[in-house]
Amino acid sequence: MSENFETIAIRLQAERSAFKEHSVPLYLTSSYKFDDAEEMRALFANEKEGNVYSRYANPNTTELIDKMAALEGAEAGWVTATGMAAIFTTFGAFLKSGDHVLSSRSVFGSTHQLLTNVFSKWGITYSYANLDQPEVWEGLIQSNTKLIFIETPSNPGIDIIDLAFIAQIAKKHGVLFVVDNCFATPYLQQPIKLGADISIHSATKYIDGQGRTLGGVILGSKVNMLEIEAFARHSGPAMSPFNAWILSKSLETLAVRMDRHCENALKVAEYLEKHPKIKLVKYPFLASHPQYAIAKKQMKQGGGIVTIVVNGGVEGARKFMDGLKMFSISANLADTRSIATHPATSTHSKLTEEQRLEVGIEQGSIRLSIGLEHIDDILKDIEDALNA
Ligand SMILES: *Cc1c(COP(=O)(O)O)cnc(C)c1O
Repeated sequence: MSENFETIAIRLQAERSAFKEHSVPLYLTSSYKFDDAEEMRALFANEKEGNVYSRYANPNTTELIDKMAALEGAEAGWVTATGMAAIFTTFGAFLKSGDHVLSSRSVFGSTHQLLTNVFSKWGITYSYANLDQPEVWEGLIQSNTKLIFIETPSNPGIDIIDLAFIAQIAKKHGVLFVVDNCFATPYLQQPIKLGADISIHSATKYIDGQGRTLGGVILGSKVNMLEIEAFARHSGPAMSPFNAWILSKSLETLAVRMDRHCENALKVAEYLEKHPKIKLVKYPFLASHPQYAIAKKQMKQGGGIVTIVVNGGVEGARKFMDGLKMFSISANLADTRSIATHPATSTHSKLTEEQRLEVGIEQGSIRLSIGLEHIDDILKDIEDALNA
């Protein structure tokens, strides 16, 4: 197999059936049959490789795992029904009562809920640290810290932290280093190659990229993935074969889609940075980004998300959102369609104003997920909304 991303994404395919299909078919089967009692015994004893039951594996999920692992430079992987199931499975597999998690403050809303309301019930504590303060991270590691969890770039603040730097701290203290790599995708950023132990994706976002399916991916070493498998096989967060089939085909176009998402997003960021009605533009590949040098070092391109702050606080933000004609107002992101979200009154409305400011969300903040429409139409829609 080639070493090149695009070729792996297209040519790494499951074994074909006797029909010699060119495109891998969808295997809608909950279980598999064995040639004889001995084969059944050998498969259950892990003495022989093969499919047993679709909660464990299926040709479609296996193909997606193999492809994602190859694309990200990981030894092995696992897939789950959603991105949150991937995060839950990872925490569940590695944490026990009495353990502590050190996490970036700005994490996906449901990850914050898992830490505050679910794992806390099971005696697992956590601390938050800011991505823009790398100097504080090591001091926050406790004797019972088991796992460091990071989202970079963060949602929606677009803060960035040096993955290799945190990896080195994690290694020094013998702590598992887990990265939510959802915003970057394996095409833009490969945390495992920079020293992370585990990389997680919500495949719902750019891996699908077309707003159709939910999915989660966990990638890491064979040893770590055995722990994940032991937890996931029995707790049952399995991805459906249908979603795996869609996601594997979506990967075939990830590189070309990401190139265009990034190209469009950079143009939007550059345009808005010069606009008098805009207070702030955060985009990793703008030279004005406080962690621009780190972004350039660890990301291939800046990604498809631009977060802006408009003048006029919540009123200004609402006026801008309502002035958009083509952009969808939605809580999702990473779609072919451009999307605008007002975090303070939607995804992050449950936080206090102080907590929001800590993660870089102002009343006038708007997260723009830049889609694949023609750039002239994207810019015109934004311009018209600003003039509305
Ligand atoms: C969407 C998202 C998740 C959760 O994924 P689901 O597929 O919706 O469960 C986790 N992390 C990040 C950064 C996300 O954007």
